[in-house]
Amino acid sequence: MATLARLSQIPVTELSGVGPASARALANAGIQTVADLLHFIPHRYMEAEGTTIATASKGAEVTIQGQVRTVRDRRPRRNLLIIEAVLADETGTITAVWFNQRHMAAQLQPGSWWAVTGVVDTFAGKKQIRVRLARRLAEGEHLLRDTEITPVHSQVGQLKPWKVAQLIRQALKRSRPVADPVPVEFLATHGLVTRDDAFQNIHFPQSMDQVGHARRRLVYDEFFRLELALALQKRRRLEESRGVAHEPTGELTERFLSGLPYRLTGAQRRVIDEITADLRGPYPMHRLLQGEVGSGKTVVAVMALLAGVEGGWQGAIMAPTEVLAEQHYLGVTHLLAEAGMSPEPFGQGARLGMASLFETDEPAVRVGLLTGNTAASNYDPEITRATLLEDVAAGRVDMLVGTHALIQEGVEFARLGVAIVDEQHRFGVHQRIKLKEKAAGIDPDLLIMTATPIPRTLSMTLYGDLDVSVIDEMPPGRAPVITRHVHKAQEGLAWDLVRQEVAKGRQAFVVCPLVEDSDKVEAASATAEHARLSAIFSDLRVGLIHGQMRPADKEQVMAAFRAGDIDVLVSTTVIEVGIDVPNATVMVIEDADRFGLSQLHQLRGRVGRGSHRGHCVVISDPPGEEAEMRLSAFVSTTDGFELANVDLAIRGQGTVFGARQSGMGDLRVADLLEDFEMLIAARRDAFGLVASDPDLVTQPALVEEIRAVLGDRVEWLFVS
Ligand code: ADP
Ligand code: MG
Repeated sequence: MATLARLSQIPVTELSGVGPASARALANAGIQTVADLLHFIPHRYMEAEGTTIATASKGAEVTIQGQVRTVRDRRPRRNLLIIEAVLADETGTITAVWFNQRHMAAQLQPGSWWAVTGVVDTFAGKKQIRVRLARRLAEGEHLLRDTEITPVHSQVGQLKPWKVAQLIRQALKRSRPVADPVPVEFLATHGLVTRDDAFQNIHFPQSMDQVGHARRRLVYDEFFRLELALALQKRRRLEESRGVAHEPTGELTERFLSGLPYRLTGAQRRVIDEITADLRGPYPMHRLLQGEVGSGKTVVAVMALLAGVEGGWQGAIMAPTEVLAEQHYLGVTHLLAEAGMSPEPFGQGARLGMASLFETDEPAVRVGLLTGNTAASNYDPEITRATLLEDVAAGRVDMLVGTHALIQEGVEFARLGVAIVDEQHRFGVHQRIKLKEKAAGIDPDLLIMTATPIPRTLSMTLYGDLDVSVIDEMPPGRAPVITRHVHKAQEGLAWDLVRQEVAKGRQAFVVCPLVEDSDKVEAASATAEHARLSAIFSDLRVGLIHGQMRPADKEQVMAAFRAGDIDVLVSTTVIEVGIDVPNATVMVIEDADRFGLSQLHQLRGRVGRGSHRGHCVVISDPPGEEAEMRLSAFVSTTDGFELANVDLAIRGQGTVFGARQSGMGDLRVADLLEDFEMLIAARRDAFGLVASDPDLVTQPALVEEIRAVLGDRVEWLFVS
């Protein structure tokens, strides 16, 4: 009996017929061991003759080949998009159904031939197939019908598909029977076949039904391993942590709330409660806060910091850019001032005898700003970097706002208790850990804020060891931004809109084309665009901001824009995240096809933040197919979660996984979008198992498998 752990230690070179060249080709495709080879599953199957539309029977998983007659889509619920295409072959018609796969709509052109795989069903008396796999057929390909199920493995470098299949046959021979370490009760609950059957049948099935069962089992195993690793990681983090059980008194938080110019939304209140519960608990918070752009994350963050401060701890917010850190600082100090919580200003002389926080009648909160280039504070207008660092180290600063300058040498906190990382997609795990290390001896409570909507599938896998809070409600009175796509030749339409809005007293952003990997070239092109637009808008005040400007100059421009002294701000993507100027209502994005969906979404989030309706114009000439899908999705919805799902579907999960440092490894069989239910099941099983047996002492074979399959990255999860 071979275990997967063992098989993942047998190099492919031990198979006959694998010389150095083949080994290299396989390695390039990520196949180094016999276990890797077993997971290299066919990308499709040629199905037996006879599965015509007329003979496809209800409940069976089949592949049919049909020609698209008509396509329609409907949206019965806000988060459900159904695409239905009527397919026909010589025997009849069937309705093929896709769920939440907006990108399919454009591809299903009437007249085109498709092979679709899925389960056959009837709906309102008509035959349907819920599509799991779809492939567009080449001209005339539908005329070829095989007489049995033939797995189609991909070519690997120079290795032809038949050769790959042959190696897999060898690998199977060597591996079978494959041992099964997954507790039988889980297999029974989900009706899963044995692992041995799964590997045989995914590669060389007798029926498409077998393929479906085999795939379900392999998908489960992949998710189960991943979720076990996450459950163990979370468990270990809690065990090893030295957290602070905060004791918020309400003294600052309540006063702050009463000074706010608006009422919190229900979602903001709920999330603040979730955070406060974490703060009070003995374990350090490790929470991801998701909220659409403009959903009001900043005030939630400030509440978390104040809850720490009122219990005697310091707080920190780390932002990804200088402009954003400065804006956070201005926002926080402004809100505190509104609530009457500004400290008395004082100069150098007073520092020695500085009163502590609670000695004055009016509670005051001392806030500092630290970026690579600036130091500022709300209690000492003359403060220098050196003095600010001293104050932080001596505990005289309650909150420090900054960029990654916060985690550099020389910054020491006296008692950092709450740390917030904003827009975390810009930071790696590594930086998060560094921020924690700044709190000597303890693990501060950590809140990671992101406006990049993360599909639930990803928050359960990539971020599966974090707790998640979602602000799923916008402040009242926000109307969705109106988005339009125009071609370059019609850019005048965008400028007309800018003029109209400026005439009403509003302001506009124009984002210049993205220049990959070169801030310098990008700055130059922004400068040129600024000159061009200054001529077009000769009667308006046109400003410029880009990443190569000195920080003080950037801040000056932003201040002027905030103050309404600039009508049109020409910019690179430095304004992408967090910029909050409620009077800005137009966002024009040039060469929009160069931007990713989440970036476009962030940019659009800069407008429509106040009481005035926002507009977004994307300028782009007919782009490629992928960009076309992105832009059409972008124009059709402002729902960030929907866009995130489209993005995942377009880009594929591989890219998404690759983006995370120290990820837990790729999914080779499972598909995050299609196999969501299995993910939930596997996660429940894994977390339940770890809860009842924290070190998995009853499951040595599983432990061995996780170690072997997920590799060194999880070594530290286990007590040796
Ligand atoms: P985010 O960081 O989530 O994108 P912000 O925290 O910058 O959003 O808030 C966006 C805007 O909404 C700000 O101008 C803020 O003052 C305002 N805001 C936040 N919460 C509320 C609320 N409950 N009611 C009205 N306006 C709010
Ligand atoms: Mg923000």
